[in-house]
Amino acid sequence: MTSLLVTGGAGFIGSNFARYALAKNPRARVTVLDKLTYAGNLLTLRDLLPNPRFKLIRGDIADAGLVRKALGACRPDWVVNFAAESHVDRSIEGPRVFVTTNVLGAFEMLEASRRYWAGLPPARARGFRFLQISTDEVYGSLGPKGLFREETPYAPNSPYSASKAGADHLARAYFETFGLPVLSTNCSNNYGPYQYPEKLIPLTLLNALEGKPLPIYGDGLSVRDWLYVGDHCEALWTVLSRGKAGEKYNVGGNSEKTNLAVVDTICAALDEAVPAWENPALRAKGLRRYSQLKVFVKDRPGHDRRYAIDASKIKRELGWKPRHGFKEGIRETVRWYLLNRIWCQKVQAGKYGRQRLGLTGGKK
Ligand code: NAD
Repeated sequence: MTSLLVTGGAGFIGSNFARYALAKNPRARVTVLDKLTYAGNLLTLRDLLPNPRFKLIRGDIADAGLVRKALGACRPDWVVNFAAESHVDRSIEGPRVFVTTNVLGAFEMLEASRRYWAGLPPARARGFRFLQISTDEVYGSLGPKGLFREETPYAPNSPYSASKAGADHLARAYFETFGLPVLSTNCSNNYGPYQYPEKLIPLTLLNALEGKPLPIYGDGLSVRDWLYVGDHCEALWTVLSRGKAGEKYNVGGNSEKTNLAVVDTICAALDEAVPAWENPALRAKGLRRYSQLKVFVKDRPGHDRRYAIDASKIKRELGWKPRHGFKEGIRETVRWYLLNRIWCQKVQAGKYGRQRLGLTGGKK
């Protein structure tokens, strides 16, 4: 029996991972620890809540007492720390909560896990794993060439990536200093079911369906690598099962795209799935294609130009590679959002109106 404690499991990647783990191992038990911020929602877990192998604890990872109790109740073999404030634009608006959750919260998770692990019988202690979920954004920005490798020095540019970098350094220190079996993964931009509508892909998709402008930051030529969330979950399971404690693994989708190309791919998938002439919102505006909704807007302050991942280590050492090409992943994502419009409405209601955030920064 493998018991997992999944923090941030009511959010996008964490909920996909909880679902993946329960299906992957029919004996696995999953406890989600989540504060249910604007980004975490019970609706996201609706199919999991009745499962006797699933449990939800509502609480803050920065609350030491609560984390200790959650570990005591769940008795995990694996702790996976997804919980974070995750939106760069919001970290420009209000960085404090990013430091509290992403740095202090990660610290409390590591510290409580260290004490819990020290009390385990030797066989269970050997199998224990703490996986810190990080991002490629900690490496900073690339020029037109080159890839982020596991050895690339950290150079975070936003309060979000700086807070994630802080957590990564703590995770590394807990392995080096205390021998806690810590692993970390640095992944590229994820997309797929249950992503909060503030992020580029769901925001574009929903605005397009409603005939609203599709904002493109700056010249639209910033480049990101895109990873289908199901492929990411498989990579995380692989790292937990076969990765070496103390190691870090980059996880990427082999799908470098400009933001403009991402928006165009979504528009093309929508042209196929719900042609503009069948969509009253577009018909009312006399538009024949979703791409006619594109508008260029002011760039994000400190916007990194390019991220690209070298994911050869995880392929070479653990045999993982992504299964989804970008077009196929986008088609599946479009299908999911079309079938789950109610989820989209409910997770935004009273919390978020798809307004532009994070314009307050900028170098003088
Ligand atoms: P998300 O914003 O969708 O979900 C975050 C979850 O964490 C939410 O359920 C929220 O309620 C919970 N949470 C926030 N603060 C908390 C706290 N103090 N205590 C307990 N729970 C709290 O994020 P996501 O996109 O699923 O990202 C998950 C992880 O993956 C994050 O650590 C993020 O940095 C990392 N990551 C994400 C991406 C991406 O493309 N989405 C890329 C690289 C890395």
